[in-house]
Amino acid sequence: MHRLFVRIWNELDIDEVKKHLLKAGELSANCENCQHLGIDFSMQKTCPNCKTEFKFIGFRKKSNPAEMISAIRRIKEKRPDLTVVDCEDIDRAMGKSKAQELFGR
Ligand SMILES: [Zn+2]
Repeated sequence: MHRLFVRIWNELDIDEVKKHLLKAGELSANCENCQHLGIDFSMQKTCPNCKTEFKFIGFRKKSNPAEMISAIRRIKEKRPDLTVVDCEDIDRAMGKSKAQELFGR
């Protein structure tokens, strides 16, 4: 069996994702709900500050796609409970929903 990562497109409630999202850098992550910093994304299931339960994780853009894959592979081993999302999609959606608010749509 040859197992590879394949990106799957899902329709999600963006507010729900944002509320339960960890945004991960190299070594630690921040809680997207309250912006609390320095969260150990390989261990912590809830935010130590706002107590939100983490269900999603997104990695800040890496220069090298291979690095991104290995980061995802590591998190999948340690945290099979988390759904990996693409931060770019979330940021774009947030930008879009802000623009929609602005223009009253
Ligand atoms: Zn928080």
